[in-house]
Amino acid sequence: MSRKPIVAGNWKMNLDRTKARELAAAVAARRGEAAAVDLVLCPPAVYVETVGTTLAGSGSDVGLGAQNMLDKAGGAYTGEIAPPMLVDLGCDYVILGHSERRTLFGETDSAVNVKAKAALAAGLVPIVCVGETLEEREAGRTAAVVTAQVQGSLAGIPAGDLEKVVVAYEPVWAIGTGKVATPEQAQEVHALIRGLLAKLASPEVAGRVRIQYGGSVKPDNAADLARQPDIDGALVGGASLKADDFLGIARAFA
Ligand code: PEP
Repeated sequence: MSRKPIVAGNWKMNLDRTKARELAAAVAARRGEAAAVDLVLCPPAVYVETVGTTLAGSGSDVGLGAQNMLDKAGGAYTGEIAPPMLVDLGCDYVILGHSERRTLFGETDSAVNVKAKAALAAGLVPIVCVGETLEEREAGRTAAVVTAQVQGSLAGIPAGDLEKVVVAYEPVWAIGTGKVATPEQAQEVHALIRGLLAKLASPEVAGRVRIQYGGSVKPDNAADLARQPDIDGALVGGASLKADDFLGIARAFA
């Protein structure tokens, strides 16, 4: 089953408007270096429009994503952002359930689940993040934790929608720490996730879902990860803030 790799940059709460525009323009200009890979930029919400305009003006097909949203279409939700608003700004993707959302803002699997359904209903591709903490890994609970997160976050999504979802396996101990999972550690969990998707839908659907690895991916470790059969791309934090590094990672998956 061939899946088009997808490499997404999670800019988190970084950059300013000028730097966001410059970085988007730099990635768009060099998009051809990794033409076989879907590229996505996920700027802070306030810069989504700037980045979207820059990407549209470049004529490149670099995708635009947000880092979070609420599951409601609109209304009295001070400070929140509705899925149709993201669509209105040209977003194609939205990251959901990132470990920082889970640990710092109390997002649960059931909250991620309703958001994933709302994203799909609005026409957005959810990038659903899962992953264990160091404590959970050391206690031998990685499979149990990831299983509960995948089943809880993706429950009740019909097969036709499930195949559009991107899953990001991001071991929490590898995010922003410089400690990358070994390709074998990552592959083992990616295979587990694909097996869970097969049970949620079917082996055919599971074979179409793209599963990204995330956690200290850099140009020099991306190629080994990319060689694993169930690793279909990367969700990149720190290294996505430099066009050279982001494109170096993307080229490894091309
Ligand atoms: C992330 O936050 O999704 C991430 C993977 O960060 P980093 O690449 O910096 O570890």
